[in-house]
Amino acid sequence: MLGSEPRRTCVGCRQVKPRSELRRLAVVDGKLVLNPRRIAGRSAYLCPTPACWTLAEKRRAVERALAVPITTEDWDQLRQGILS
Ligand SMILES: [Zn+2]
Repeated sequence: MLGSEPRRTCVGCRQVKPRSELRRLAVVDGKLVLNPRRIAGRSAYLCPTPACWTLAEKRRAVERALAVPITTEDWDQLRQGILS
C-alpha cells in the first residue's frame, strides 16, 4: 500500500523517506540512544549511509534536532554502531 508508511526527513541529506529505511536517534534519560524501543521525546532520523552521517555531524543537525550536546566520542560510537 503506497503511502501508508510514515515518512521522515533525514537530518543529513534532507530527503524524505519511509521511516523503516532510516535509523532513529533519540534522547532517553538524557542520553543519546540509537533505535530506542521506547518512543518518547524528541527524535532525529538518519539514513544508514556514511555520507549522511558525515553531513549530519558537520551541520550538527542531530544536536539541533534533539537539543542535546553530542561529543565526538558519542558520535563515533553511534556511527560505528550503524555503519559497521
Ligand atoms: Zn540521508
